[in-house]
Amino acid sequence: MAVNTQQYLSIINELTDQGVKLIAVSKTKPNEDIQTLYELGHRDFGENYVQELVDKQASLPNDIHWHFIGHLQSNKVKYIAPFVYMIHGVDSEKLLQEINKQGLKQNKIIDCLLQVHIATEETKFGFDGPALHEFLLSQRLSSYTNVRIRGLMGMASFSDNQQLLNQEFTILKTYFDKAKMAFPNGQFDVLSMGMSGDYALAISKGSNMVRIGSLLFGARNYTK
Ligand SMILES: *Cc1c(COP(=O)(O)O)cnc(C)c1O
Repeated sequence: MAVNTQQYLSIINELTDQGVKLIAVSKTKPNEDIQTLYELGHRDFGENYVQELVDKQASLPNDIHWHFIGHLQSNKVKYIAPFVYMIHGVDSEKLLQEINKQGLKQNKIIDCLLQVHIATEETKFGFDGPALHEFLLSQRLSSYTNVRIRGLMGMASFSDNQQLLNQEFTILKTYFDKAKMAFPNGQFDVLSMGMSGDYALAISKGSNMVRIGSLLFGARNYTK
């Protein structure tokens, strides 16, 4: 199934009006689909798998902003550090340390979002609220010279219970507002929450960056 350009144009208009940034999640999708949106002017794409991202980056235009949105293993940071635009899923200090180290090596500052655990499911990675605030108030924060913490990312439960999603997004927004105070310089301005099924709700709760895959590119097929 090809990329749905009508759907893209309607979503990008809707989001632009609201000041929300769209990350087109292209994991498992072919380069041609990315190229199609690129030709319509889209530059921000999200990927979940390191090898797939490295391959795509090598063969697609240089001015694409690649967002790594998956679970990142520390030993793989080095493969994406040279070109990645933003890492959304920073779910531990150990991972942040490795990103900082690779940033230092590349002589660059890598934009990151801290992933917060908001879903009721056990399987989702991330900081919990108390750990997040402890870290942001700690002296350790200033040792990360080569990462720029730009905000928070969260994934709600895989559910269509609106009340539950509502609660989870509201909690993340509360954490975001509080965490923002640790960065008086204004660098902390991204709240990445919302996907194909729940982005409108996420925006109504304060999201300013959504990660949308299947609505644009069609359902994913992991068996190929
Ligand atoms: C795959 C993925 C998305 C996109 O999901 P859709 O439901 O297809 O929009 C968004 N965020 C993360 C972290 C993902 O892994």
